[in-house]
Amino acid sequence: MASFVQFLQRSGVYAAQGFMIVPRGGFNLVCLRDSKDVRLSYDRGRLQVDDVRLEHVERVAQEYIDTRYGKQKSQERDDQLLRLRTALYATARPQGLARGLKVSAKGVGIPELKATRGNIGIRLEVAILPRKDFTIAFKFLRHLDQSGKVINATKWTPDDVPWFLTRLNWTFGAQTNIFFTLVDATWITVQKALGPKISRDVFRKDIVPLKKRGADLTCFLVGDYDAMATEAAGQYLPDEQVCVVVDQGNPPVFDHGEAFIGVMAHEVGHFLHHKRNMPGSGHHDRGGILLSSGLESLSLDKQLVSNLNAW
Ligand SMILES: [Zn+2]
Repeated sequence: MASFVQFLQRSGVYAAQGFMIVPRGGFNLVCLRDSKDVRLSYDRGRLQVDDVRLEHVERVAQEYIDTRYGKQKSQERDDQLLRLRTALYATARPQGLARGLKVSAKGVGIPELKATRGNIGIRLEVAILPRKDFTIAFKFLRHLDQSGKVINATKWTPDDVPWFLTRLNWTFGAQTNIFFTLVDATWITVQKALGPKISRDVFRKDIVPLKKRGADLTCFLVGDYDAMATEAAGQYLPDEQVCVVVDQGNPPVFDHGEAFIGVMAHEVGHFLHHKRNMPGSGHHDRGGILLSSGLESLSLDKQLVSNLNAW
């Protein structure tokens, strides 16, 4: 039985939902397993589907990674490029049963890609998504301790921002073609003793006014924050287009290693939800998916993609 699977985790192929995304004017990759004698059919006015052969692997892998990570160099980028090249070489072997498909968008909308053998067929809806770009700023809080000395309220620093951006741009870029450009990453100092846990009132009154003017979104790192019960480790303020994320993130709801960046992505998700004028906060009950009220991850699904971007 043939099946579609993703090459890289969270790369905009939602195989279980029979859905994938392709950036408008760009391409995405999908692996077709058990492809012997399978015939592909699709709307040739809107899609172009090519097999990634041995001689294409290097160029296709490089272009794929460049588009999603931009010019930012990082270990994650190098690791992903290696993973993708390895996977593409495996499917490009002439005698292999799996095929690596490069699905390019020539039009708009949500055409279908079908793979048929005999009278059995499987299908993917291919959502062709416009690219959306937003600017983002990060502000790191300093305030006074009891003796009047300036102290860092957060363990994070502007040096961590390239990693924040890499993770946010893969989470939203590869999965729904939304990208963030950094416009500022600096310390801010409030000349008051604010205590170890920042209250919501203090945040609005003393910290939010220090947001980056002109940025679409400012994300504040303040150490600890008195978040509401429904939003355990951060908050997004739609009227101000700012968010706050606690240093520790939310370990109970995200996998190990994603507790902090997961909460940041969650708050950014609220921002994107709000930008599309969607009703409500954006919370849902689909476990394991970003913005879920239960367990979460950095994974999106078809519903969330359609809430954050349009085809
Ligand atoms: Zn939330």
